[in-house]
Amino acid sequence: FKTSLKEIRDSDTATLDDRRITLSANVEFEHELNQVAESGANGIGLFRTEFFMLETGEFPDEPRQARLYRQVVESVAPKQAIIRTLDVGGDKLPGEPLAEPEPNPFLGWRGIRYSLDRRDVFKDQLRAILRASVHGKVGIMFPLISGLREIREAVDVLDQCREDLADKGIPFSDDIEVGAMIEVPSAALMAKEIAAHVDFLSIGTNDLIQYTVAVDRVNPRVSQLYKPAHPSVMRLIKMTIDGGRENGIWIGICGEMAADLILLPVLVGLGIDELSVGTPRLPSVKHAIRALNYEECKALADEALTLPESRLIMQASREVAMKAY
Ligand code: PEP
Ligand code: MG
Repeated sequence: FKTSLKEIRDSDTATLDDRRITLSANVEFEHELNQVAESGANGIGLFRTEFFMLETGEFPDEPRQARLYRQVVESVAPKQAIIRTLDVGGDKLPGEPLAEPEPNPFLGWRGIRYSLDRRDVFKDQLRAILRASVHGKVGIMFPLISGLREIREAVDVLDQCREDLADKGIPFSDDIEVGAMIEVPSAALMAKEIAAHVDFLSIGTNDLIQYTVAVDRVNPRVSQLYKPAHPSVMRLIKMTIDGGRENGIWIGICGEMAADLILLPVLVGLGIDELSVGTPRLPSVKHAIRALNYEECKALADEALTLPESRLIMQASREVAMKAY
C-alpha cells in the first residue's frame, strides 16, 4: 500500500468516479467487536449469533441475549449493526441433539426453517434484538430464506414480538431495517417478490454457491467445483440486485466473495451497494474499491454476464483489478 492503514481507515469507501459502497464488518465473536471501529468499517453487516447461542449447550435467555446484542449495537453506534437470527444446522452445531442425524444437513433443518419451527427460541431472540435497538442502530436479517412464505412469516413473528414488548411497556426503536439473506437459488430467483417485504437483501455467497452448483462447501473432494465466478452464480447475483432495485432497497453481499479482490470489479460493476467482510480483510477491500472506476466495472459486469465459463469471468475481472491495484 502506498497509503497508510490509518489513512485508509479514515477515508470514504467510494470508487474514483464516486460510486459509494457501504463497507461493513462480519463479526462472530464478542472479542472481535473492538476491531470493527479500528478496521474503518461502516458498522456491522453480519453479526452471526450461532457461537453465542450455542456456546453453553443451552440457549441464553432473553435478558442475557439482550445484554450481548446491546454490546454489539453500542460498539458501532450510531452506525448500524445487523444481527442475523440463528442459523443452526448444516456446518453449524446442531441446536438440539437430533434423535437421528440428518442425511443431508445442508438441505435440512437449518436457518429460518429451524426458527419458524421453534417459535419460542425465535421469539426470545427477536425480542432480545428489539430490546437492544434503543442503544444504537439495529438491523435484523433472516438466514436461509428459500421463498416468500418464510420471509412473510418471519416478518410476522417479528411484529408479534414488537407487540409483546409494547404490551409490557418495554421500549424499542421504530427505525429498524429488516432484511432477507439471499443464499438459496430459489430466493435469488424470487428476489423481486421477497424484496417487497424487506428493507434490504444480503447475499450469502458461501451458501448461494454451494446450492447453485450442488457442491458441499465443506467437502474437500469436490472443492474444485466450488466456483464463486460460475456464470450461474453471477446471473443469480445480478437477478438479486435487479429484484432489490425494482423495490428501491439496498443489496449487499456478506459471504466470502465480498472480500475477493479478483472478483471485486465485477461485484462493484453489478451495482452492489454494500459489502460485509471480516475485519482483517476490510482495509484491503476498501483500498481496492478506491482504486476502481465504476463505469469501467459496469462495462466489465455487462461483459461478464455474457461469458460462459467461470475461468473467463475471473480473467476479465482480474484484468481490471490488476490495472487498478
Ligand atoms: C453465507 O452463506 O455466505 C453467509 C454469509 O452465511 P454463513 O457463512 O454463516 O452460512
Ligand atoms: Mg449462509
